[in-house]
This record gives sequence, structure tokens and C-alpha cells, in this order.
Amino acid sequence: MTATTTTTGPEPSASPDLSKPVGDPPLLEVRNLTVTYGGTVPAVRGADLMVEAGQKLGIAGESGCGKSTLALALLRLLPATAKLTGEILLDGEDVLTMKWGRLRAVRWAGASIVFQGAMHSLNAVHRVGDQIAEPILLHNAKATPAAARRRAGELLEQVGLPAARAQAYPHELSGGQRQRVMIAMALACDPRLIIADEPTTALDVMIQAQILRLIEQLVADQDVGLIMISHDLAVLADTCDRLSVMYAGRVVEEGPARQVYAEARHPYGRALSAAFPRIGDLASRRAPRGLPGDPPDPAALPGGCTFHPRCPVALDSCATEDQELREAGGERRAACVLVDTPATDDSRNTA
Ligand code: ADP
Ligand code: MG
Repeated sequence: MTATTTTTGPEPSASPDLSKPVGDPPLLEVRNLTVTYGGTVPAVRGADLMVEAGQKLGIAGESGCGKSTLALALLRLLPATAKLTGEILLDGEDVLTMKWGRLRAVRWAGASIVFQGAMHSLNAVHRVGDQIAEPILLHNAKATPAAARRRAGELLEQVGLPAARAQAYPHELSGGQRQRVMIAMALACDPRLIIADEPTTALDVMIQAQILRLIEQLVADQDVGLIMISHDLAVLADTCDRLSVMYAGRVVEEGPARQVYAEARHPYGRALSAAFPRIGDLASRRAPRGLPGDPPDPAALPGGCTFHPRCPVALDSCATEDQELREAGGERRAACVLVDTPATDDSRNTA
């Protein structure tokens, strides 16, 4: 596998250290990204994200908060009705202004996506080996069909399947095996960034844990960046270095994954962590405790802080005053007015 940085070396360029020299752009930097469907549905509103090589960023939030829209926007895979503004800098190059030829080259090879519901996105009438070989042939003019098939077999072994399974059709594989095939496809062109959108949501608990370990292992071995999307904060806290929590199209909280999980500063982040116990207690997953209702329809967002109608600690002013992300202690940022109000038990602020 090609890796443009050494795996564990002490060089500043190989670590997610923000103090590295200016002029060496991060693997991915998203600035003020907005996605509006059909001119009226703001599904992503001013998102900022950063991922360094070797770093794992988790994006959490309930269904409908804009996570998949954000993931698909990163490679401009959204329908034409979606209008995008902002910047998506992949190795410093803006995906939003790339010409089509360049964009095609970047997809799969610069960054690849393991889609939500991936088990259904394999083509039913083609052998899985041929489907893995396809991006290889597309991206490498010198690759012969035989070489691409050989590589597909190697990739299957890398994700824990026998190379001979290349001959199988999707319906001959279990859900977990199909998800492994999707991950093999995502790895096929040695991308530097892998985006996994709810990669384990449809799988049973044992398989879910296996797939998560596989993704973690692949990311560690190859020094790629990972964006892992899930509604399950506990899974993200176990897998990722940093976490961004999305609500109604906005990042409302971000910080080191374990800190966000253990002591979120935004009431929404706290509700999500209360809803999801740690791995090992997967059977008791349930809807957010003490948080009735659903995220708002982006076509009809409430005024003020969009979370205020569901917020257990909202102030009167929250109905009218929108909140920006702000410093919230311990390398965290949160978009909540209460972050500025020192709480009595706020020793955790300096964690
Ligand atoms: P998540 O992945 O967090 O569940 P999505 O990004 O799928 O959220 O959806 C965010 C919002 O955008 C939802 O309200 C959804 O209904 C809306 N949406 C998603 N895709 C489209 C589309 N193609 N056209 C219009 N609205 C869409
Ligand atoms: Mg989604």
C-alpha cells in the first residue's frame, strides 16, 4: 500500500500536530460548508471540519441531522438539486471548484466512501471481484483486467475474506461479508481519506464489532484519514480520535472523542451520550433518554438555537438567539450559551 507519510515516525508531517509548518495543508479541511437542497432545504449549515493523515474523526447525530449530506458533499456526489458553498480542501485543493476530470481522479483514489446501506449498493448481477476491480481499471490506465482481478483477490484477503469469494455474487454473501466487500472497494485505489457512513448500522452486534475493528486496523496500517459517521456516540468514542456532533445541519460540539462522550458541553451531545452505553452493552441501545421528539425538518427550522425546543436546560433567550461554536474548555468547542455560564460543578471545564 502506498502511504505518503511514514506510519509512526516522529516527523511533524506524520502526526496530527496542528503546530506543523504552515504551507503543509491538512489532509481534509472543510470550511463553512453549506448544502441546500432545491434552494430551500438547508441540510448542512456552515460546517467546519479538519482531518489529518492517520487521524480518525467521528461525526455523530440523530437521523436527519445532515451527516450523509455532508459525507456525499465531500466528493460532490449529491444530486444536482443540491447547491454547495464553502470550501472542501483535500490536500489543499478545493473539491468544489475542481473540473470533472480532476474530480473523477480524486474519487476512489484521493478519498473514497463506504456508503450508508452499502449492502444494497453492490450490483446484484456482477461478481463482487469484478466490482472491486472496476475502480482499479478506471483509475489505472496500465492495469490489465487480470492484474485488477488479482488485486481484488488481495483486497478481499485484506478485509478477511478468501480471495476465491471474488467469484461470488452479492446475494451469495452475508450482510457482514458484503460490507467487507464494500470496504475492499473503498481501499482499491489506495485513498488517503476513507469516509464511512454508518458502516455497521444494519449489521448485528458481533459483526458490527468485527467491522469496526477491521476499519480501525486498516486505518492504522495505512496511515489514511478516516471520517466515521454514526448516530451512536459510544461507537465513535471507541473508534475515533476526535468527534463532531451535528444537529440540524450544524456542528454543535467538537473535541477529543472521549471527552465529548464522557462530558459533552452541549446539551444535545449530553443527550446523545446518555442514549448510547459503551460497547459491551450493545443490547441496551435505546432512543436518547430524556430527549423527546426529533430533529427539526431543515425546511422549517425553529428560530434562535435550533435545539431549543428539545433542550432540557434552555433559557428564554435561546428561542431568539442563534449560537456559534465557541471555546468550551479542554480543546472542546460547543454552540451553547450555557458554555459561557460557569456551572457550579465546572471543574471539568479544564479537563
Ligand atoms: P443523516 O444522514 O444525518 O440522517 P441526511 O443528510 O440524510 O441526514 O438528511 C438531512 C436532511 O436533508 C433531511 O431532512 C433529509 O430529509 C434532507 N435530504 C436528504 N437528501 C435530500 C434530497 N435529495 N433532497 C431533499 N432533501 C434531502
Ligand atoms: Mg445518513
